[in-house]
Amino acid sequence: MAQPTTLPRICIALGFSDVDKLLEHARRELDAGESFFEFRLDYLASPELGVEAIRTFLAAHPDCTILATCRRHQNQGRYNGSIEEQVAILAAAIEAGARAVDLEIESAENVAARLELLRGKAKLIVSYHNFEATPATETILRRMQKVSADAYKVVTTARKPSDNMRVLGLSKSHPRVPIIVLAMGEAGFATRVLSTAWGGLYTYAAPMAAEGTASGQVSAKQLRHLYRVEKFTKAAKIYGVIADPVRHSISPNVHNRAFQARRMDAVYLPFLVHPPQLKDFFELADKLPISGFSVTIPHKQKILRYLEIVDPLARRIGAVNTVWKKAGKWRGTNTDAEAVTGPLSKCIRLAKSTVLVVGNGGAARSAAFALIESGTKVSIVGRNPDRVRALAKACGAEPLLKEQAEARMFDALVHATPMGMSPHVDECYFDGTIPAELVFDMVYNPLQTLLAKRSAAQGRTFIPGIQMFLNQAAQQFEIWTGETAPRPVMEKAAMEALAVS
Ligand code: NAP
Repeated sequence: MAQPTTLPRICIALGFSDVDKLLEHARRELDAGESFFEFRLDYLASPELGVEAIRTFLAAHPDCTILATCRRHQNQGRYNGSIEEQVAILAAAIEAGARAVDLEIESAENVAARLELLRGKAKLIVSYHNFEATPATETILRRMQKVSADAYKVVTTARKPSDNMRVLGLSKSHPRVPIIVLAMGEAGFATRVLSTAWGGLYTYAAPMAAEGTASGQVSAKQLRHLYRVEKFTKAAKIYGVIADPVRHSISPNVHNRAFQARRMDAVYLPFLVHPPQLKDFFELADKLPISGFSVTIPHKQKILRYLEIVDPLARRIGAVNTVWKKAGKWRGTNTDAEAVTGPLSKCIRLAKSTVLVVGNGGAARSAAFALIESGTKVSIVGRNPDRVRALAKACGAEPLLKEQAEARMFDALVHATPMGMSPHVDECYFDGTIPAELVFDMVYNPLQTLLAKRSAAQGRTFIPGIQMFLNQAAQQFEIWTGETAPRPVMEKAAMEALAVS
């Protein structure tokens, strides 16, 4: 059968010490619609077993593409043989039907004259790996191009957000060089999603329900159906969320589905940004460029110093959760505020009501300021009386001790601490009577919190945190795109993401 000359866009890296397991995972991915697999021969007790596995697999599935790799332990692989033996194994893999082989530059430089053995019938991919950092990528590529190959693969480790740009920039600045780029680690996640649209030959995915071979990997299903790596173009608008940690965020699920529903050439990515890396993130955001992003813990307050225009309420609150660039200027607002007052105002008249805010962090602050702005009489309670007093003073609310709050009955209560949030699902600020008729819990993971259960048992009306989440996300979507947010799609995506988290 004639083989296509290009490689598929997504390669599933399969590194297993057992041949049966390797084949089982390859078949499972095949059943899910995938066709491009990297067989890590070095993971097996003997690489020859892997060569046989390639033959067996391709006999049954001739349309599939296999990339064979037999990484030496000097390059964090598991193969202990000589470079000559390594090349001989890759040559055998090609004889067995592998359409591409991956040989690290350290080996390739030593046997450059013998590499023609590996070309012609298959693609020779010469690869560079750095498991520590992202050094100057241009220098790396120059070194690699001294060895003739069909493609060059540059894999580094992202330590900071701007490392994504240094890696992606390689494919941008060398459009004629067949290249595969990737920054490992959670901080390099963006490279896995963006690299193919930016000219990379393919990207790597982890097998379903198994340990990947490199940190920060995603499944092919997510790359294909959530991030739509085969659909968005190089001109796609890039959005995202910055957080630390960011892995738990359901925002990529919600916003990517919304872009898909509105048929937009756009993608939304999770960016791991450690507290001292905000400035570095803006370097990436300017260069990539990023059109807008959500901001969550721990950056909502510190982000203000990097913004040129901040709306007055967000400035008073001192927290921003939505950023976008317009006319060359970074702007910020706070969609959490409206996301609290919106659902509450459907149940009570804010200007005539008393509301108890529980907590004194960023979300409590947004709620307190927004409610006071709406004319509500706000009281605040929390575990640290000094911090409660400071917030109450800043926004014009009444500070209360826990026993004072529990002795009263408010029209509504807004819970804004992480109590009850996964994994602390057995926590609830109130052990006894909940001192409000209407209870708004900001926590949305799990959907059914202990506060929700206690509210139901005490006959209270309850507003779940997911409503706030969806309200603020819908507002973000509208600010960024100027289009109406597809709320039912966003809600379905959020529910699905929470069901599996
Ligand atoms: P934050 O800035 O870290 O503030 C957390 C607040 O909770 C602080 O007042 C902290 O008190 C208090 N707290 C933490 N652990 C506590 C405990 N065990 N007992 C009593 N109080 C405790 O966080 P945030 O941004 O305000 O977020 C708070 C919650 O709201 C989180 O669960 C977050 O997921 C949720 N939230 C939901 C949405 C949504 O869309 N539904 C939006 C924003 C936030 P100290 O000051 O004494 O440390």
